[in-house]
Amino acid sequence: MALNNPIDFQPIFQAVRQAARLCQIVQEHHLVSSEKGGHEPVTIADYGSQAILGRAISISFPDDAVIAEENGGQFMELVPDAERAEVVRLLNMILEIPVTQVDVVRWLDHGHKQESKRTWVIDPIDGTKGFLALRNYVIAAGLLIDKKPAGGVIGSPAYPGGGLLFHAQGGAAFRQPLDGGAVKRIRVSENNTASTIRALESVEKSHANHERMERVREVAGLGGSSLQHIDSMEKYARIAAGDAELYLRLPRLNSTRPFMIWDHAAGAALVQAAGGMVTDLDGSALDFSYGRTLPNKGIIVSNGHIHAQILDAIGRVLAEG
Ligand code: AMP
Ligand code: MG
Repeated sequence: MALNNPIDFQPIFQAVRQAARLCQIVQEHHLVSSEKGGHEPVTIADYGSQAILGRAISISFPDDAVIAEENGGQFMELVPDAERAEVVRLLNMILEIPVTQVDVVRWLDHGHKQESKRTWVIDPIDGTKGFLALRNYVIAAGLLIDKKPAGGVIGSPAYPGGGLLFHAQGGAAFRQPLDGGAVKRIRVSENNTASTIRALESVEKSHANHERMERVREVAGLGGSSLQHIDSMEKYARIAAGDAELYLRLPRLNSTRPFMIWDHAAGAALVQAAGGMVTDLDGSALDFSYGRTLPNKGIIVSNGHIHAQILDAIGRVLAEG
């Protein structure tokens, strides 16, 4: 399927690079955020980035469906006139074409109602809180084929050692410098030695249950191993690139918030293509067939070699109550 008929990711690479440039300009010159529903921050860069990706998909893959975090209605309703004008100005400068507000809304909403064998899943800035705090964030375009993560592109401007562009295609995973350069194949780490496992989790305490994840690592015998807090799907990229072995995302006990597919589609495709594993608490695959949300409870991402040990530890911690 995907192997027999590979699609050309170049237009998406270019769009992610343009979106990253827009994000960097916003970060340097006009960093303001507003709130959308649920008190989540959103910036003009979220809209600008999604418009760039929507435009690229509308030109290169016009029949594909899109599920994306932001939308044109919200842009018109929540964003003040002067900031909407700023988005238009930035897009005009980066795309080097005349751009109107009507174009921006059309690109933001491109493909949203469409049903197709292929669906692009867009998070224009994943880790907006990290973006605002000048920490880590990514620009992500996952590709679902028949509602399964089959590929994707992740731009990671703040990756340690320099910005990287990751992609998964045809069952293999790759990285290249975000600014251009050689494409290299990546694989997950082979490490399964408890004391040297590198674990990752969200920075934001409201996003996951840090205490319970600590208990899981302890029960799994990883108590003394290293732990880093990183925003965004860059955590998936670090596992895929062999720069870490474990990413746990266990929701807070009182959380009723489902996982959104744009926070996981591109990352899951990348880690799986790099030889790693992505499951929920029960060891089941993430199910991308429910629209914008995942039905799964909890997410475990690993290099595969320590996955069974972690699932077992989670089972024991859940039994503790
Ligand atoms: P991370 O930086 O890995 O925590 O992931 C960032 C993503 O977490 C954002 O894109 C949001 O979709 C999601 N998020 C925001 N608020 C919450 C919350 N209260 N609980 C769980 N996830 C959240
Ligand atoms: Mg996100």
